[in-house]
Amino acid sequence: MRAYSSYKDIVKLVKKVDSIGLVPTMGSLHDGHLSIIKKALIKNDIVIVSIYVNPKQFNDSKDLKKYPRNLEDDLEKIKIFNNIIVYAPNDRDVYNEREEVKKYNFGEITEIMEGKLRPGHFNGVATVVEKLLVMFKPNNAYFGEKDFQQLILIKELVKKIKLDVNIIGCETIRESDGLAMSSRNKFLNKSERKCAGRIIELLGKAKKMYKTSSLKAIKSDILKQA
Ligand code: AMP
Repeated sequence: MRAYSSYKDIVKLVKKVDSIGLVPTMGSLHDGHLSIIKKALIKNDIVIVSIYVNPKQFNDSKDLKKYPRNLEDDLEKIKIFNNIIVYAPNDRDVYNEREEVKKYNFGEITEIMEGKLRPGHFNGVATVVEKLLVMFKPNNAYFGEKDFQQLILIKELVKKIKLDVNIIGCETIRESDGLAMSSRNKFLNKSERKCAGRIIELLGKAKKMYKTSSLKAIKSDILKQA
């Protein structure tokens, strides 16, 4: 299976295709990504999977440097699928030299939770997703519910820039102990990995208590078990 590094080559290939699905990823593919690709293949004639570690969404250069990159392995994992085109560009195919991140105003969704912890992250995400949507003009584009804030933001983005594309949310695929699969999980050492599984377990308990207990009671009960 080959990967295309020029979006123009892909645009030529899909010119006459009736329905195009787009699955943006940063690679190091796991079963979460694969389930999105499978879902996209049901509804579209061709699915474009982008594999690109977008530098503009990293606010920490060390984090960008160490982000896992395994294009060969990724291609191996997806070669079983038909009707897939892989777009694995270098920075110059996506951005002009010295191009700046676009400054959107998404309001509160980008200021809370992850937005608060990673300044500039969501503008970087929106910048690259807008570019991919404009490049390939897909009918449908797929994003994981795992990154829920991102999913909401992309839905806002397409409304804002008036793009005719369906944004489709995809269920979170989890490890056996409930931890969401993620390319970054491999950074966790044994005890961090155990802790991450415990977080989802306790969140599940908190959710069960929600209907019958006050917020204060839930918080104190869960913290006691943590
Ligand atoms: P990433 O490569 O981490 O940027 O993710 C690419 C896409 O896959 C995003 O839309 C993510 O939300 C989605 N994704 C990542 N992990 C999972 C998972 N465990 N289950 C479902 N979707 C996922």
